[in-house]
Amino acid sequence: MFQQMYPSINHKYSFELNKDFNFSAAHYIPSEDAGKCMRTHGHTYFVNLTIVGDELDHNGFLVNFSELKQLVHGQFDHHLLNDLPAFEGTSPSTEIVAQTVYEMVQEHLDQRDNQPKCAQVFVRETPTSYVRYIAKEFRHG
Ligand SMILES: [Zn+2]
Repeated sequence: MFQQMYPSINHKYSFELNKDFNFSAAHYIPSEDAGKCMRTHGHTYFVNLTIVGDELDHNGFLVNFSELKQLVHGQFDHHLLNDLPAFEGTSPSTEIVAQTVYEMVQEHLDQRDNQPKCAQVFVRETPTSYVRYIAKEFRHG
């Protein structure tokens, strides 16, 4: 799934960085009407982050690619998502995983002087299913 093109967003920034990575994790959807997803099972999640901005840091980076991967992979890989504080009180559906990744990434970016923005988080849960979470500023329609 790497090296694929992702649905793109429109923005007014000079730089757009995209980072692909994956992580393996288990989850279950904690409700009766979720069918077989109620049972604990695993996925290899493929994530694409789109980061935009106008200013670069002293290294010429919008943000370090490996830092982005570490931020999410370091917390989610080989975990049962339902057990993680990030998903406490929620159902770790693909939608919520995408939204949670967005919040983690944007919170991290907010600490940088050059103020990059996470515009989109793409999460593929299976070969036939994916979700895009689009940050508010980048929604149109
Ligand atoms: Zn699942």
